[in-house]
Amino acid sequence: MLISLKTQFYVFVICMFGSEVYGVCRRTKCVDSETELSVHPSYTSLLRLADLSNDSFKGKNILDSSRHLSYTLPMMSKSNEPKTLQEAIVYFANPDNCILYLVARRWPDGVTCPTCGSDNVGFIASRRVWQCRTRHSQAQFSVKVGTIFEDSPIGLDKWLCAMWMLSNCKNGISSWEIHRALNITQKSAWFMLHRIRLALQDDHSAKLSGSVEVDETFIGGKARNMHRSVRARRIKGTGGSGKVAVMGLLERHGEVRATVVPNVRRQALHSEVNNRVEQGATVYSDALRSYDRLEEEYTHHVINHAEKYVDGHIHTNGIENFWSLLKRGLNGTYVSVEPFHLFRYLDEQVFRFNNRKANDSERFHFAVSRIFGKRLTYAELIGKEDKKQSH
Ligand SMILES: [Zn+2]
Repeated sequence: MLISLKTQFYVFVICMFGSEVYGVCRRTKCVDSETELSVHPSYTSLLRLADLSNDSFKGKNILDSSRHLSYTLPMMSKSNEPKTLQEAIVYFANPDNCILYLVARRWPDGVTCPTCGSDNVGFIASRRVWQCRTRHSQAQFSVKVGTIFEDSPIGLDKWLCAMWMLSNCKNGISSWEIHRALNITQKSAWFMLHRIRLALQDDHSAKLSGSVEVDETFIGGKARNMHRSVRARRIKGTGGSGKVAVMGLLERHGEVRATVVPNVRRQALHSEVNNRVEQGATVYSDALRSYDRLEEEYTHHVINHAEKYVDGHIHTNGIENFWSLLKRGLNGTYVSVEPFHLFRYLDEQVFRFNNRKANDSERFHFAVSRIFGKRLTYAELIGKEDKKQSH
């Protein structure tokens, strides 16, 4: 066979270097880049999707360059990305597809080292990790590093399917369902779901404006269903005592915010409204006395539920609708939620509600776009490490 000059050059480059990165590449047998590419089986799909035309080589070995891979990845992966749960299961069953999908979103301009930020990195295809060529510790990194998946032994195929299920379900997905569906332990599933909820958490920096409905609710077991000893311990008064107060704010035809509040007294509710609603907005509330004096900063309309529920456009039915969805998930799926973890379940329902107009694949893409730069360890989750996660 006539070996072209270009091929000879690749062979020369490959033989020159002996580091681990290049060692892997040595196992790749470049027969002739112009006609045929015989590679290690694990590279095949990555190489195929990365479109190894002659132009993309430009005198380098493709496996040593993240740039060529990542420049071509977004185009290649978005054309066949999944639209339904069934397609997602099939697509993410291939570990290379999982990497392609995440790389396209995390590093659209080329893979960079999460430790030092350098773009001088090489892909070790046999182990599906990158090697940073700058000398420092943790120079090898996978796509999981610096995301909610970091340090998880569970494969990306299961992670991404769990994300699809949680971001697109109606009333929540319990850890027992994930345990059975993905064949992982219930404890792992519970930890996994909480990490996904952290990803779904929004910083809610944008304030609500226009017409905003505000309301509060209490989450917690009904006293009549409790064992006598539990009831004696928890219920020390009437109304919302022994339960967790949650405040909700809904911009009509817009986004919702829901937060755990220490109580439903005026100061707590007013500071929540001030933090989340732009001045001059129109605020609708029920007749709870704690909302008195909101009219000093807002146009405040009150609907007295003892008389009627709707008076023209004065009502709080939008936020009541959100409570209904939230409680359907908490009562029907999660059943037993510790007050300490309640804000995570709020984050989950708020994410689905705020993206209610998107379709399943769009909602999943939003969820995936939020996994980067976040981390939740088990110790933090169960409260053994004091790191603030709540908003
Ligand atoms: Zn580095």
